[in-house]
Amino acid sequence: MGKAKKPAAEGWFTYQGTAALIGTRCQTCQTFFFPKESHFCRNPACQGTAFEEVELSPRGTLWSYTNNCYAPPPPYVASDPFRPYALAAVELEREKMVVLGQVASGFSTDDLKVGMAMELVVETLFEDEQTEYLVWKWKPAVR
Ligand SMILES: [Zn+2]
Repeated sequence: MGKAKKPAAEGWFTYQGTAALIGTRCQTCQTFFFPKESHFCRNPACQGTAFEEVELSPRGTLWSYTNNCYAPPPPYVASDPFRPYALAAVELEREKMVVLGQVASGFSTDDLKVGMAMELVVETLFEDEQTEYLVWKWKPAVR
């Protein structure tokens, strides 16, 4: 029997059908936020307090990457116990903001090149007896 699957971080991404990160968009200045902003707009020139939830682009361009040997700060969700992995910073196609994520399993920094196309996938981050905990990752896009 398959294990139940659930997000390691609730509400940060969708994985039913096409994987996508869930962010918000300020209804005043149209700025996108990830993780979700829902109280005050972080754009210093904007007084917006109304946000709509949006699915962010599942594709983008590799902006930077590193071999990560330390547990990263939020919003990234690290496995426990922590294992080193390749970390990619990807500029989203539409929103032009950079979102960090672990590189999909089977890929290392040797497979990465700044400027290459990347796509969002959802994979198991860790598991226990009953459940696989899911997280978003970045994978070199197949065109
Ligand atoms: Zn705003």
